[in-house]
Amino acid sequence: MQIEARASGQSAAGTPPPAPVDQAVALVVAAGSGERLGANRPKAFVPLGGRPMLEWSLDALRAAGVRHVVVALPPGHEPPAGCRRAPGGATRSESVRNALAAAAPGAEVVIVHDAARPLVTPGHFVAAVRALADAEAAIAAAPMTDTVKEAGPDRLVAGTLDRSRLWAVQTPQVFRRAALERALDVSAEVLAQATDDAWLVERTGGRVRVVESDATNLKVTTPHDLRVAEFLLRERG
Ligand code: C5P
Repeated sequence: MQIEARASGQSAAGTPPPAPVDQAVALVVAAGSGERLGANRPKAFVPLGGRPMLEWSLDALRAAGVRHVVVALPPGHEPPAGCRRAPGGATRSESVRNALAAAAPGAEVVIVHDAARPLVTPGHFVAAVRALADAEAAIAAAPMTDTVKEAGPDRLVAGTLDRSRLWAVQTPQVFRRAALERALDVSAEVLAQATDDAWLVERTGGRVRVVESDATNLKVTTPHDLRVAEFLLRERG
């Protein structure tokens, strides 16, 4: 799949990455329960295309050349071969923080990825690392195709947002390590508010660059998403 950097009218193409992808460490968060999927096991371990969902993301990381991987896991789960283990946290961002603490020192570029996005490709990782050249964070995101409205608790529409400026944010999200460490150095309450890690960097004043992705890098949340992911993986061959 083709993806390209697109943000602020600038392209990261041709700009050298701060470090090659093979020097980066990847934090794969896989400790969620996945209640909305209704499976009898944590979502990252639900079978998809005949193997645990987590394995698809690990394949894509390996194919991108990433050698250092930490996986945040639920209790009782062993790390996949060649990966370090970190204990899952009470919230997603706590799992990210635990995984970062378990990462070996040295890697200056940190890739954060949800195990719940098994359709990620090596190109997503490479493009995000490249886009870090002039930012503290670079995040995969798809242009909004739906119109987005804001409504109050009474369901009355308060406004319609300008769709041309809106992005549906995904993972991978890639960070300069120092910026991510600073951003994660907050209370459990702030971590619990974060629906993505880039928000934590934004609130410390860090620059976050959007890297254009597409809707196929979907997050598996419901049984419907799982069926769509099965279909897309089979189609990919
Ligand atoms: O629940 P949701 O689908 O938004 O979770 C996104 C990713 O974060 C999943 O891969 C899930 O396993 C992970 N997660 C985690 N620790 C938590 C909650 C979610 O690692 N406490």
